[in-house]
Amino acid sequence: MYIDDRISNYLEQIVQKNGLTLIHIDGTELDPDVANGRKRAIIINNNYKTNFSRYFRIAHEISHLIYTRSNDTYAFSPLSKLSDETEANLHAIQILVDFYFSEIPLKQERWERRFHFIEAFGLGQITHLVEKILA
Ligand SMILES: [Zn+2]
Repeated sequence: MYIDDRISNYLEQIVQKNGLTLIHIDGTELDPDVANGRKRAIIINNNYKTNFSRYFRIAHEISHLIYTRSNDTYAFSPLSKLSDETEANLHAIQILVDFYFSEIPLKQERWERRFHFIEAFGLGQITHLVEKILA
């Protein structure tokens, strides 16, 4: 199985286990992804223009719905300084780390491969948060 299929399945399992709904739409490249706390639904815009990978974006919205526990609606804004956004980023990174490094338990080895991880998920703009999780 290719990595894309495996991570898709992994995220889909988290979505199902938490009773969330994941929807993909074809919006414009300016329409950000959205997490709706009241409906427990995630809307991913296939055409949204961003350097962040699709998998990070899904993990980020999942994190809002699992960990923030509010009825708020969140629009994808991972570079915002708001604490909910930083929290969602950190949880999303952890979700992806658990997947990506599942066969690499040693902290030192994970740290040495952090740039592969950052590249794989398009996280260059939040390198400092990846390093915070892997340090
Ligand atoms: Zn967010």
